[in-house]
Amino acid sequence: MHVAAILAAGGIGSRMGSAIPKQLVDLGDSTNMLARSLSLLLGCPLIEQVVVAVPPGSSVGEIASPRIPLEVVQGGATRHQSVLNALGRVTDAADLIVIHDAARPFATRDLLERTIRAAEAHGAAIAALPVVDTVKQVEHGTIRATLPRETIFLAQTPQAFRRAVLERALAAGDVHATDEASLVERAGIPVHVVPGEAGNLKVTTPADLEQARVLARSTKTSMMRIGTGYDLHRLVEGRPLILAGVRIPFERGLQGHSDADIVCHAVTDAVLGAAALGDIGSLFPDTDVKWKDADSLLLLRGAMEKVSAAGYAVVNVDVTVIAERPKLLPYIDAMRANLASALAIDVSAVSVKGKTNEKVGEIGMGDAMACHTVAMLQGGERQA
Ligand code: MG
Repeated sequence: MHVAAILAAGGIGSRMGSAIPKQLVDLGDSTNMLARSLSLLLGCPLIEQVVVAVPPGSSVGEIASPRIPLEVVQGGATRHQSVLNALGRVTDAADLIVIHDAARPFATRDLLERTIRAAEAHGAAIAALPVVDTVKQVEHGTIRATLPRETIFLAQTPQAFRRAVLERALAAGDVHATDEASLVERAGIPVHVVPGEAGNLKVTTPADLEQARVLARSTKTSMMRIGTGYDLHRLVEGRPLILAGVRIPFERGLQGHSDADIVCHAVTDAVLGAAALGDIGSLFPDTDVKWKDADSLLLLRGAMEKVSAAGYAVVNVDVTVIAERPKLLPYIDAMRANLASALAIDVSAVSVKGKTNEKVGEIGMGDAMACHTVAMLQGGERQA
């Protein structure tokens, strides 16, 4: 199966009453409907080409598409014409075509993939939502009938079709059709329905746009991620004591392959854990001589490069060091400053606390030190 996607963004959104096309209006999070819908399609591993039909005279701006080809065509006077224009640029290799409206920027990748898979199985498939309200048929302000609501579904996009099915339906076409499925139905071809999503809002009116802005904000906060880190090393004679990159005068130091900085190690694991990017041992194996006596602040910076590349930024970290001795208070600010620099955040977002183990166990006897950390990350635009 070779899948091409068409993004219908050619409409000017006359019902929005806005000076610029509705799909380019900022949703308050520096994205717009077109950018969000495009990133959904470009990020779907089943799709191998995207063709976007934009309103005449506008462009999609700078959109990086490293994985798959992205083509931009001018939209037509009608949706039908826009889809035809886009279809003209779909590669010959494509045997399945999925069409999505830019005005539905909150469809999920799961919905997209379910629709594509259903079209692969059945020839034609669309996302549609069952109705929950009782449905009345009304004429001239008076109810004519109560319709059996279990037979009523609200059509959404994505809609996906085998190429031959779509081409046949479009050729027979009605230029005023509001979706492709209705053309396929009219051609006598069964269209399979996959469960749509209530969150797959179609943004048509200024009120919808307000709701879209609220949704854009809420999907942003749902991108918060949390991670924990823990480390423990033995205290031995003849080693320096280094915590968060600060050399602390003490008669013993932590034993380990690197500088054995338990604070950096626990913080590294917490940020990697929050991003689900593995752990310090997988990134910097202690079997590698490269990390012998390594400065663990550099390891933390290395982990942060991975975290940033995945689209995350650190919001804050909270660190607890468990050590019977020495007193850490005089060094806390220097430790916080080192961590803040490595994490690229303000020192006010870095907390470091010292704790004794009440003389209990190995830590209490002064034979080891341990560190616990939690880290919160924000971001993760990893769909593409
Ligand atoms: Mg360690």
